[in-house]
Amino acid sequence: MPHHALRPPTEILTRGFDPTLSVGSARPAVFRSSTYVFSTPEAAERAFDIATGRAQPAEGENVELIYSRINHPNAEILEAQVAPLEAGANSAAVFNSGMAAIMTAFLTFLRPGSTVVYTVPLYGGTMGLLRDFLQPWGITVCGVPAGHMTALEDAIHAATNLRIVFIETPANPTMTMTDIRRAADAAARHPDHPLVMVDNTFLGPAFQHPLLFGADLVLYSATKYLSGFSDLLAGIALARDPALIAQMRGRRIGFGNILQPDECWMLDGRLPTVALRMNRQSKNAQRIAESLVSHPRVRRMHYPTLFDDAEQIRIRLAQCDFPGALFSMELGSRDAAFAFLRAVKIAHNAVSLGGVETLVCHPKTTTHSGLTPEETKLSGITDGQVRVSVGIEDWRDLLSDFEQALDSIA
Ligand SMILES: *Cc1c(COP(=O)(O)O)cnc(C)c1O
Repeated sequence: MPHHALRPPTEILTRGFDPTLSVGSARPAVFRSSTYVFSTPEAAERAFDIATGRAQPAEGENVELIYSRINHPNAEILEAQVAPLEAGANSAAVFNSGMAAIMTAFLTFLRPGSTVVYTVPLYGGTMGLLRDFLQPWGITVCGVPAGHMTALEDAIHAATNLRIVFIETPANPTMTMTDIRRAADAAARHPDHPLVMVDNTFLGPAFQHPLLFGADLVLYSATKYLSGFSDLLAGIALARDPALIAQMRGRRIGFGNILQPDECWMLDGRLPTVALRMNRQSKNAQRIAESLVSHPRVRRMHYPTLFDDAEQIRIRLAQCDFPGALFSMELGSRDAAFAFLRAVKIAHNAVSLGGVETLVCHPKTTTHSGLTPEETKLSGITDGQVRVSVGIEDWRDLLSDFEQALDSIA
């Protein structure tokens, strides 16, 4: 091994997996066992001491496995291999969905009476957790519109018992960006030293690196780009500080929400192509969005290379390597949006995103239908919006399909 750090595409294929532990198989085997045989009673005692945090493993110590809800080889391999994909990360934990990762982050780091400051809109499931579950349990929640940096700084400054600043950028579906660095600086000035968490599902891990801007924890729905084929659910948490991940793993044992071996194995096999897929998807989306912006039916196009606000352009240039594969179009009315969804032939009308196939949906009546009227307004969600998640089809075929669907609107 060379002494300098390997680059991520090399690291994914060379670390975290020892073929001799999989009878020489060049790719990992699947270990579906629920329980593991100890070599000696002393090894069992030691494994329990370490799993429960009563002891720390020595450098290079071979700690025996116990039981698959605690840990299993496919989770260990996946966690070792996904960490180098996230710039700045030293440790990862895998969960059985994105929501499981997010909920475990909340329940690991919040205490009764804590405050969470967050950007609006968040993913619907996350908003629901904060408002409908955590708030009644005594957590104070404070939402600030995405991209309003002075409002976010003021909310952080004014909060008491502040434990978490939770950011989702770009916001769904308007792509409005929040400055992670400014938020992390405001959090660092707060006497409670809250953790800054970023749901990086939309642009990570290829195009946006929150840990390099001062975030403490990065969360993913790996169901989306990381898995990429719309055929499994998974969630991941990554951090620079392994102690944060160790605390979440401790909770994961109690919650029983570790990712299962088969899903770990599938997701692990997708990691080497994440950057390839995302690059192709982003290039496709950019070509399509920049063409459709001048279509007479499109009243407004929400896409990072088409921002007109100077501050939004500044954040994009500072924070994102590429614009990503999601855009939203304003078509003027719900009828026009529905007509478009009925007329597309290549794209499927489905929620979710990040897969190799192109998906279109109407956020107001689906993904964002749970927002209050005030949140809908704050989030910039309208009746005439459609959101597009661009896949890896040939962009010219997608563009002509979208053009014929737009032309068909009465
Ligand atoms: C899909 C999604 C989630 C939830 O992830 P699941 O894997 O469906 O549980 C969270 N955040 C964002 C931004 C998402 O797109």
